[in-house]
Amino acid sequence: MTKTYSYGRQTIEQDDIDAVIEVLKSDWLTQGPKIKEFEDALGKTFNSKYVSAVANGTAGLHLIGMALGWEKDDIVITTPITFLASANCILYNNATPDFVDIDPVYYTIDVNKLEEKIKTYLAKGKKIKAVVAVDFAGQPCDWKALRMLADKYDFQLLNDNCHALGAEIDGDTGYAGKYADAVNLSFHPVKHITTGEGGAILTNNPELDEKVKILRTHGIVKDNSKYSIQNSELAGPWYYEMQYLGYNYRITDFQCALGLSQLKKLDKFVNRRNEIAEYYNKSFTGDERFITPKIKENTKHAFHLYPLQIKFDELKISKKEFFNKMRVHNIFLQVHYIPVHLQPYYKSSFGFKENDFPVTEDFYKNEVSIPMYPTLDTEDLNYIAEKLKEAAV
Ligand SMILES: *Cc1c(COP(=O)(O)O)cnc(C)c1O
Repeated sequence: MTKTYSYGRQTIEQDDIDAVIEVLKSDWLTQGPKIKEFEDALGKTFNSKYVSAVANGTAGLHLIGMALGWEKDDIVITTPITFLASANCILYNNATPDFVDIDPVYYTIDVNKLEEKIKTYLAKGKKIKAVVAVDFAGQPCDWKALRMLADKYDFQLLNDNCHALGAEIDGDTGYAGKYADAVNLSFHPVKHITTGEGGAILTNNPELDEKVKILRTHGIVKDNSKYSIQNSELAGPWYYEMQYLGYNYRITDFQCALGLSQLKKLDKFVNRRNEIAEYYNKSFTGDERFITPKIKENTKHAFHLYPLQIKFDELKISKKEFFNKMRVHNIFLQVHYIPVHLQPYYKSSFGFKENDFPVTEDFYKNEVSIPMYPTLDTEDLNYIAEKLKEAAV
């Protein structure tokens, strides 16, 4: 069988498989003890008081917005260089999305442009409700500046941390919940650790945590002290109340068993991703055709992606031809991301258009996500770097 390379893939080992099988043979497939165990382990790893594991990362974002009370006419801001879910969660809650361009060096939200945007809204008598900042590719945003802005202008701050498990600011893997009011994780197979589908919400706010846990299971409250009726004859052991409109966004026990097993390897995975990034940095730095991702001072990058910029406008080969050529070599590249504001749905619903966010759009023209996952070995990396350079003419 010939080896093929995609931009990302999971690492599943025998102990991961064993952990799932053990749960499949137990009494609980869902709503068993592994969920709480996984939540506790996540809380320890990321230094978060409260954790709710959920069906996927998108569900997590939906629930955070709901629990934070987003409603119609609330303005919520994110960046266009992200997965659709970071923006779609705003629409699920009927709030109004807006975007702020990325920083040209680190590709995360430009905090100066964010403040300008907030001021523009204020001049029109409007206040923004929340910001969903994304630690794109695994590079933490400027969270100290974001926290300052959130306090100064009184908005809710979310970290869509799906790319950055294991990243650090000042040596702290718990930075996400330290600066943001709520943090969202995903365990999709291309992410750092996987549960198949899966996600988690981290927060240090007990009210937010309680709300999220109710909403992830149909809005059902099962707590004697909170029932609308206080008659113990009517509120027997069978009783529960639906007090909100929630969803079934639960995760299963066997998924959490996989998550627990994977979480033990997070350090190893992130360190290997950093080694691979160093290899690529060496291969492409100093070559005028390429721009490599930079790492912000005092941060550890988690390298979910390796976003390589190729200056196609200075080459003969087009981006499309380049992709096709690499496919012939069994290297399946991807682009992260098509700017969200240029998606037909966003253009037609909200009037976004080309040139609204020029740094984003330049980045999109150049960006290529090259293979980045722990099981790549030196031979793979040599092959990939060589083929990329060969084709970039
Ligand atoms: C993966 C991802 C999500 C959520 O993805 P799910 O597939 O729903 O788990 C959200 N935001 C970003 C930035 C992501 O990369």
